[in-house]
Amino acid sequence: MTDTPTQLFIGGAWVDAADGATMPVDDPATGEILCHVADAGPKDAKLAEEAAVRAQEEWARTAPRARSEILRRAYEIIIERTDELAHLMTSEMGKPLAEARGEVAYAAEFFRWFSEEAVRIDGGLATLPDGRNRMLLSRRPVGPCLLITPWNFPLAMGTRKIGPAVAAGCTMVLKPAPQTPLSSLALAAILKEAGLPDGVLNVVTTSRAGEVCEPLLRGGRIRKLSFTGSTAVGQLLLAQSAQAVVRTSMELGGNAPFVVFEDADLDKAVDGAMVAKMRNMGEACTAANRFFVHRSVAAEFGRRLAERMGALVVGPGTRDGVDVGPLIDKRGRAKVEELVADAVERGAQVLVGGHAPEGPGCFYPPTVLADVDPGSRLMDTEIFGPVAAILTFDDEDEVIRRANDTPWGLVGYVFTEGLDRALRVSERLEVGMVGLNTGLVSNPAAPFGGVKQSGLGREGGRVGIDEFLEYQYLAVPVR
Ligand code: NAP
Repeated sequence: MTDTPTQLFIGGAWVDAADGATMPVDDPATGEILCHVADAGPKDAKLAEEAAVRAQEEWARTAPRARSEILRRAYEIIIERTDELAHLMTSEMGKPLAEARGEVAYAAEFFRWFSEEAVRIDGGLATLPDGRNRMLLSRRPVGPCLLITPWNFPLAMGTRKIGPAVAAGCTMVLKPAPQTPLSSLALAAILKEAGLPDGVLNVVTTSRAGEVCEPLLRGGRIRKLSFTGSTAVGQLLLAQSAQAVVRTSMELGGNAPFVVFEDADLDKAVDGAMVAKMRNMGEACTAANRFFVHRSVAAEFGRRLAERMGALVVGPGTRDGVDVGPLIDKRGRAKVEELVADAVERGAQVLVGGHAPEGPGCFYPPTVLADVDPGSRLMDTEIFGPVAAILTFDDEDEVIRRANDTPWGLVGYVFTEGLDRALRVSERLEVGMVGLNTGLVSNPAAPFGGVKQSGLGREGGRVGIDEFLEYQYLAVPVR
């Protein structure tokens, strides 16, 4: 903690906010203030934008191999400092240390993956249909980008954007979530150490997101917005981006269905449910939000899931043996409490959990609800907490219709031992990703993203870099 920067990172230098403002960073396990970081205002954002704009042209001309090697070095530094970064993340976000270490590895992998992609940006030469004209196709960086990240994966949501932007030759202004600024500042320090030129990445931590970001989006110099967060904020930022026709990538909320058919292997289904529900204490866009279980196996599935959930140890993420850390803040916990109370009022049975403990910190116990009424609020709200809500179904068409009956479409989970059914159901689910007999889909080598109101574009995989590149076509007549 002592070496973690707490100032803004602009033009390669650590600086205070122009008006000297700072904001506290809290430990969600105790409610105590960990430290204060600089709280940027519009003036600082402008300086960060200028630094990114100034650095863009030269950075775009940097050899792909040089960009690749910076990412590779940063990957290695992150891996070397896994413990340090995991402690930092746990202190500001709350997740247990083992999960934080897992996120460090996941986050680092985006840098390794995009270090490999940086040198594979291709173009083309083609003869046009008339036989006389040639087309030369090249790919160029979109230009200075604004990257906005949420608090739930403080390191990985940064590297998933910074990795492809660096690989493509874009400069950036990063605005992390105010609850978890330290991981992003630590990341900036690592990239500087790895040789990233001044001005390529600028980080503005702020409690004034709207005042800081809106002028950049409307100003016409930022050419790309890559946002991860809630659908409501995504919609607002899309509207703001329209004025200067800023290109956008949107990784938004989810409402994942988790479907267990009567022919599923229940051991696999319960293992999958534990991951899909409990990764990050349920504070994940990929979290299973609605468990649809075939009527013939619902009681057994509920019993086994409740047993596993009830055995998890809740406590501060830094303590040995803890499986479930605190939720991010009091507001997040109050939302989970309200959703559970609403479901119970409508007749849901609490198989395990269901009550927040007394005392400091924002803890909520792993909870399983059975016989959930389809009209309950948690059916169309991201729970963002460790609560599994089980409903029953009778046939395949019915469950597909119900699974798709939501404005979101990020991910779905399907458990069945039948190959035909697995493929048929996956194809009919309106989602960007499907976990087939698994509760985990996130992988830096795969295109992550959703359909419907879960977003636009994909992050990671071969296509992740495309979000940061434009085509340029040269018309060449050959006489
Ligand atoms: P959020 O409230 O939408 O905030 C996300 C980020 O946007 C934060 O940095 C936030 O800063 C910023 N923001 C809010 N209003 C803004 C504005 N007017 N202008 C510019 N920036 C603004 O979401 P969250 O609560 O942090 O994160 C949880 C959400 O993220 C969930 O919906 C989850 O599903 C989604 N998520 C999606 C993915 C994915 O890949 N699809 C991954 C992770 C999370 P402030 O907090 O200061 O407002």
